[in-house]
Amino acid sequence: MSLNRTAKCRGCGAEIAFIKTVKGKTMPVNPESVYFIPAGGPNTYVMIDGTVQRGREPDWADQGTPTQIGYISHFATCPERDRFRKR
Ligand SMILES: [Zn+2]
Repeated sequence: MSLNRTAKCRGCGAEIAFIKTVKGKTMPVNPESVYFIPAGGPNTYVMIDGTVQRGREPDWADQGTPTQIGYISHFATCPERDRFRKR
């Protein structure tokens, strides 16, 4: 599964991709898919179908816990995210 549209983040220059959410909003995400636990955690993940979920990264204690594959919102990891928030 690949994301067709990529761009460079205006803040940090990292490669990002876009997924249109079910609400019609275009979200910038990191282009590599990741496993996450949809447990209402601190991060925002976007599924390939446009569903947005709150979740967290799995750790060693999560063996056997069901995970999902999604794309993490680039704003969660961008080192320049404060620049976006100030606008
Ligand atoms: Zn960035």
